[in-house]
Amino acid sequence: MASGLGSLVAIWRKFTRITKADGTPIRAHIAEIRTIADRLTRLGDKPSDALIIATLLGSLPKTYHPLIVALDAHPEAGDLDFVIGRIINEAVTLEHFNPDTPSVVSPGNESMALRVDVRKITCHNCGIVGHFASNCQKQPNPYAKPTKPWDATNALAITETAYAL
Ligand SMILES: [Zn+2]
Repeated sequence: MASGLGSLVAIWRKFTRITKADGTPIRAHIAEIRTIADRLTRLGDKPSDALIIATLLGSLPKTYHPLIVALDAHPEAGDLDFVIGRIINEAVTLEHFNPDTPSVVSPGNESMALRVDVRKITCHNCGIVGHFASNCQKQPNPYAKPTKPWDATNALAITETAYAL
C-alpha cells in the first residue's frame, strides 16, 4: 500500500473531528465527509454506515439538535441515505424559517441586497412591528406617514442588522 499507517491515522483523526463551519452549505459538508470516508475505504479501512452517520450528526451545529434527537428514536436512523435526506430537509427548513434570523431584503434596496431585521421594523400603515407598510395586510391608512423602510424610524434596525452581519 502506497499510503503509510501515519496518513491513515491522520485521515481518521480528520474524519472524527470534522465539524460543519458556519458558512459551509450542508451539501458541501456532507460531500466532504463522504470524500473522507471514500479515502478511508480506498486505504482498506472502510467506516461503517453507522460510523459515518454518527460522525455526520456529531459534526452539525446546535441548530440541528432537535433533528438529532428525533433521529435517535427513528427506526431508519441507521440508513445513511435516509439520514442525509433528513439533514438536507432540516437545512432547508432552518434556512427559511429560523426564528433567530428573520431577515428580508428591504423593498427598494434589492440591488444593495441590504438585509433587514424585520423584528425591528415598524409598519407605518398599521403601526405593528414586524413588517414593512408595503407588506401590510391591513387596509391602507390615509393618515399614515409615507412608508419608506429607510426613514428615521427604521434606519436603526437596518443599520444594526447590517453591522451585526
Ligand atoms: Zn402593517
